[in-house]
Amino acid sequence: MPVSDYIVTIGLEVHCQIKTNTKMFCGCETSFADEPNTHTCPTCLGLPGALPVLNEFAIERTILSGMLLGCSTPPTVVWDRKNYFYPDMPKDYQITQMDLPLCLGGGVPLYDHNYPKDAQKKIKNPGKVVELNRIHLEEDVAKSTHLAKTTLIDFNRAGTPLMEIVTEPDIESAEETFAYLKSLQQILIAGGISDADMDKGQMRCDVNISVRKNESDPLGTKIELKNMNSTSAVRRAIHYEVARQCEALDNGESLVQATWRWDEDLGETQEMRTKEDAHDYRYFPDPDLLPVETAAYIEKVRPLVPELPHEKSARFQKELGLTPYDASVITSDIQLVSYFETTITLAKTPGKKVANWIINNFLGLLNEKSVEIQASPVTPAKLSDILNLIEAGTVSNSQAKDLFAALWSTPEKDPAALAKEMGFEPADTGAIDALIDEVITNNPGKVAEIQGGNEKLLNFLTGQVMKASKGKANPKIVTEGLRSKLL
Ligand code: ZN
Ligand code: MN
Repeated sequence: MPVSDYIVTIGLEVHCQIKTNTKMFCGCETSFADEPNTHTCPTCLGLPGALPVLNEFAIERTILSGMLLGCSTPPTVVWDRKNYFYPDMPKDYQITQMDLPLCLGGGVPLYDHNYPKDAQKKIKNPGKVVELNRIHLEEDVAKSTHLAKTTLIDFNRAGTPLMEIVTEPDIESAEETFAYLKSLQQILIAGGISDADMDKGQMRCDVNISVRKNESDPLGTKIELKNMNSTSAVRRAIHYEVARQCEALDNGESLVQATWRWDEDLGETQEMRTKEDAHDYRYFPDPDLLPVETAAYIEKVRPLVPELPHEKSARFQKELGLTPYDASVITSDIQLVSYFETTITLAKTPGKKVANWIINNFLGLLNEKSVEIQASPVTPAKLSDILNLIEAGTVSNSQAKDLFAALWSTPEKDPAALAKEMGFEPADTGAIDALIDEVITNNPGKVAEIQGGNEKLLNFLTGQVMKASKGKANPKIVTEGLRSKLL
């Protein structure tokens, strides 16, 4: 049967590094791209007898993440040892949380603009919230680099606090998975929990995929794709893997629960090992760590819950009249939203217009120049000056675009002074007045029609005056001039 007739079920385990200065169970600095093995101690090297000490900040951040995602936190949580032969963890167990994790339940809302661009027109489950199973806290392992005959190992990463965010098998497609990862990233960034940059390995995910023929069938055999580190690769890998599983079932083959990997260069999945079950890890409570009472941490982080992207978007629609699309674009990036919010407090322009201006002009120019929002030479203060010049009728909307572009290369200038320099504000209003009179004299027919009630023709005469002034006049002032003379 065609692939599209199979029911696809996906569950995700996302490992996300928490933005902390120190590691999970020792005081070593967390770092990225430093000289290998420069941030180590007996604890994160896993030397016998070294004792772990809890990083309370990492606990707070995990509880905060749970609050952002609507999870609950048990009153007491426990640390467990996950036993395994880890070449990158010499003590051969990872400290993690099995039975009593820091967060339970909750969900991740999928934002429309986070679906792949080509899939946004046909979102199957708009407004979906992907159900979470849990979020637990654990330590990262060291980083291995495999060379031809040897393996290098860097312990700078060993012991970095990792949150593992586990979904229920609640995702139906590669596109939903893509939107899930982007939305989760956006929420963790908004909460200041992680930069969640997949390129830097701050966020990695394991994808569990199964297919079945009928809704009434039990879930199919689960194949786990390990350690994916890009959202677009995840999408490609799922499409490939779903097709492979469907073909196998069509041919009457049975699938075996196993761990696979995605080879980006070959564009295919490859089997690594048959999957171990939880009992193979012989979990047991870590005797070196006491259970943690969570009440005090919960009270400490409750006031830190920020307004989330979808909450901001709803508020902007309600309070400022933004369209759902504009609101979702503005809230899709934490830097953009802060640029917007600063601008609306400074500009006398309604928020809806500010959003239009930012989306239609500002983002275009940023894109063209490949500049990050926070590096924009035109600050919110300067942009609001420009918007205020439009509002005051000193420059027209199209003149403002030129002014904005000019300010981009000379950001130190004062927008009003620059407008004058560019000739947008005619010094001699008398000259404009003379042009208005001239246009009135030359268009007696139109003037009669306007005075007969066809006010729309004022635009035509405004255009004539603009032409006569070689674009220097301000159309708003010209129209007002015409109106006062004719009506
Ligand atoms: Zn250490
Ligand atoms: Mn894990």
